[in-house]
Amino acid sequence: RFEGVTMAPPDPILGVSEAFKADTHESKLNLGVGAYRTEELQPYVLNVVKKAENLMVERGENKEYLPIEGLAAFNKVTAELLFGADNPVIKQQRVATVQGLSGTGSLRLAAALIERYFPGAKVLISSPTWGNHKNIFNDARVPWSEYRYYDPKTVGLDFEGMLADIKAAPEGSFVLLHGCAHNPTGIDPTPEQWEKIADVIQEKNHIAFFDVAYQGFASGSLDGDAASVRLFAARGMEILVAQSYSKNLGLYAERIGAINVVCSSADAAARVKSQLKRLARPMYSNPPIHGARIVANVVGDPSLFNEWKAEMEMMAGRIKNVRQKLYDYLSAKDKSGKDWSFILKQIGMFSFTGLNKTQTENMTNKWRVYMTKDGRISLAGLSLAKCEYLADAIVDSFHN
Ligand code: PMP
Repeated sequence: RFEGVTMAPPDPILGVSEAFKADTHESKLNLGVGAYRTEELQPYVLNVVKKAENLMVERGENKEYLPIEGLAAFNKVTAELLFGADNPVIKQQRVATVQGLSGTGSLRLAAALIERYFPGAKVLISSPTWGNHKNIFNDARVPWSEYRYYDPKTVGLDFEGMLADIKAAPEGSFVLLHGCAHNPTGIDPTPEQWEKIADVIQEKNHIAFFDVAYQGFASGSLDGDAASVRLFAARGMEILVAQSYSKNLGLYAERIGAINVVCSSADAAARVKSQLKRLARPMYSNPPIHGARIVANVVGDPSLFNEWKAEMEMMAGRIKNVRQKLYDYLSAKDKSGKDWSFILKQIGMFSFTGLNKTQTENMTNKWRVYMTKDGRISLAGLSLAKCEYLADAIVDSFHN
């Protein structure tokens, strides 16, 4: 009976927040989870989100069930935001879009589709990657293996290793790619490198599976951050794309995102969509409406859309400022001659510091800086005022 159930280990990312909450020290800092904070280190609700919610109240909208595939107005704008409204894949109705339970739920639904329709097919994931990817494919019973991605020597991309591993995978594998702002490294391929990645994937009849959790947050440009996905779509490739609005609209707890499957015909897209619905129905029946309406209201309204872009630039800009300041302090305080410029080269919410497990333990135990054991820190959770303290903690931990 239940007596036989063993204790599960804490989650490597969300477990950090639990430990942070339990700490009573004043100087404590939570750089574990990737959630945007203001300079005062408070959570931030975007003004456009408040306005979109007011619109919902004014319109007196009801709480009836959504269809299994989600809110039609949301599905339309989310695919357009990703591919661009004029993209042939949209015009030709070759995209099957289904609203998902944010990025995670959308990835999980796609994993279920792979398990059912491509039995035995392997998913290739980057080493390292966001911690939950492995859980998602394990739970969906989809086999996975890793491809090389991060090179600790250059603190950059191991591009040759990446291509070699994708080439060596069995024909018809799924290749999970971070559309922009790779988590946890903050290192993305260049446009030329993306072309070569697409070449190899085409050559091997693999299917690219994009995880887009930071559109607009990496470069501050929604279109720029979708360039990788659009490059593959423009080649006429069949691709999967999971989207999340947790970060770019700050809708973390609303659980709003989508899975998009680009097919080679409108007919195939209709069939794929019907199967995604069939998979979703017994799992959660239909998705929540609140976040879907917010996204549809913001993206579908030209004035709110422009306001959103400005707020996103403001958030991305704050993170960039913090990145610069942290770099400045580290360069000034560290007398070892270590080159810290990799911090400035990384993009997105995170910095991959290169701190090892023992060093991250020093960060937490001595300095009360909470972070994941892989050495990743969320700069979105850092203020300008705390940069100096963090630099002291990092220098001390590195040389400890
Ligand atoms: N993929 C990546 C790479 C992420 O970093 C995240 C968020 N941390 C997600 C997916 C999904 O997050 P959510 O389920 O909140 O959309």
